[in-house]
Amino acid sequence: MEQTGTIHRLMSATDPVTMDKIVSLCKRRGFVFPSSEIYGGLGSSYDYGHYGVLLKNNIRAQWWRAMLQEREDIVALDSAIIQHPTTWRASGHLEGFTDPLVDCRTCKLRFRADKLEDGHCGRKPSKHPGETPDCDLTEARDFNLMFETTVGPVREEGATVYLRPETAQGIFLNFKNYMQFARKKPPFGIAQVGKSFRNEITTGNFIFRTREFEQMEMEFFVPPDQAAEWHQHWLAERMRWWTGLGLRPDHLRLRAHGADELSHYSSATSDVEYLFPIGWSELEGIANRGDFDLTQHAEFSGQKLEYVDTATGERYVPHVIEPAAGADRGMLAFLVDAYDEDEIEGERRTVLRLHPVLAPVKVAVLPLVRKDGQPELAREVYLELRDRVQADYDEGGAIGRRYRRQDEIGTPWAVTIDHQSLEDRTVTLRDRDTLKQVRIAIGNLADALEERLREPWRSPKLD
Ligand code: ATP
Repeated sequence: MEQTGTIHRLMSATDPVTMDKIVSLCKRRGFVFPSSEIYGGLGSSYDYGHYGVLLKNNIRAQWWRAMLQEREDIVALDSAIIQHPTTWRASGHLEGFTDPLVDCRTCKLRFRADKLEDGHCGRKPSKHPGETPDCDLTEARDFNLMFETTVGPVREEGATVYLRPETAQGIFLNFKNYMQFARKKPPFGIAQVGKSFRNEITTGNFIFRTREFEQMEMEFFVPPDQAAEWHQHWLAERMRWWTGLGLRPDHLRLRAHGADELSHYSSATSDVEYLFPIGWSELEGIANRGDFDLTQHAEFSGQKLEYVDTATGERYVPHVIEPAAGADRGMLAFLVDAYDEDEIEGERRTVLRLHPVLAPVKVAVLPLVRKDGQPELAREVYLELRDRVQADYDEGGAIGRRYRRQDEIGTPWAVTIDHQSLEDRTVTLRDRDTLKQVRIAIGNLADALEERLREPWRSPKLD
């Protein structure tokens, strides 16, 4: 059995979590793999493995829970990825969703003109583009970030469509449907989760910025004179959500955009920023989009997109507050925040101190030895538990190694079946963070786990 002696924490300000550690854990434990690896990989494209799928599912589920289950003023939508191409003329993306790009005639690489300091010269990677006498950069030109494709078998005029660069526009296109069929009255919101696509020039940093990614966006329609107030409401709500799921408050901050940073549609935007290994970076943007989108789509479609109060005759174009978060970037933040290393009685371990509701697996069921009827009883316990929570069964290898495996994927509890279990139907329940073990009757296990899952939680890294 595992010793529960002194735990020495190893991570500290001087030995911070690095992106390399996260990437290697993700690969080792099957969270995230580089995509198309057998063909040499495809830049900035990743595949989510078993535990990555479970973790991202839990993040999405918590987002939906906060948007739908815990409120009554938000409804759900799942709109198409390919929309009518006029959508992107109206939204301003065809015209303005661009990054300035320069080419180097010497090394043939491309860089973002406004982020040369993030680029590496193709000939001398220790230098930034433009820093060596051989660098020969072109003038900057605008490059649209939308992926273009065609519908139908012929590449003809009018067949060009785009993969959506954000999920938000699908919501605006359905505003009229929700007015008519959902009988909603502002303030109310429409929420959507789904893939978006941007042909980013500067990628890298693992799943922080990829060309294909998942967004969790909600458009909250409000009477114009309430917009500023609802913006404040959503800033507070979203910060509460991230910290409630365990992100350490001192690694999270809100940063208001300066006037020169604001998007064409926004009158105020604040970013939720997280202290990633690459420094403070955006995790979620919370914008006051005003009436820009509904007005544009009304103009381009010729349809009235407004709220009409049938009783009073009052009519107006609602203003929109938009919290827009990234599911993949969120997952990276949760992984970075949870990653920890410690040493117990001279043995090092890596542990993901994830909030239990986010942990891919809630409980691992482990027979101490592979004989004497222990695997049979352990299977029985596992089958009962998996009915209630995501559970893993593992009987292979030394018990210590099996604990480590579960620690690395962030499993908060492990149940061990030993010789005593066969006599009195009790098991030990081990806690990932404190390593404390308690004996508990098999019949009470599922209830005990569900109770623990409901308890408030705070990152042990704060202690
Ligand atoms: P950035 O400035 O980092 O490119 P953005 O301001 O363009 O982000 P938004 O358009 O506000 O991003 O999108 C909302 C959220 O979607 C972001 O906060 C981020 O979490 C996520 N996101 C945007 N682009 C990407 C990307 N290329 N890869 C992964 N996530 C992304």
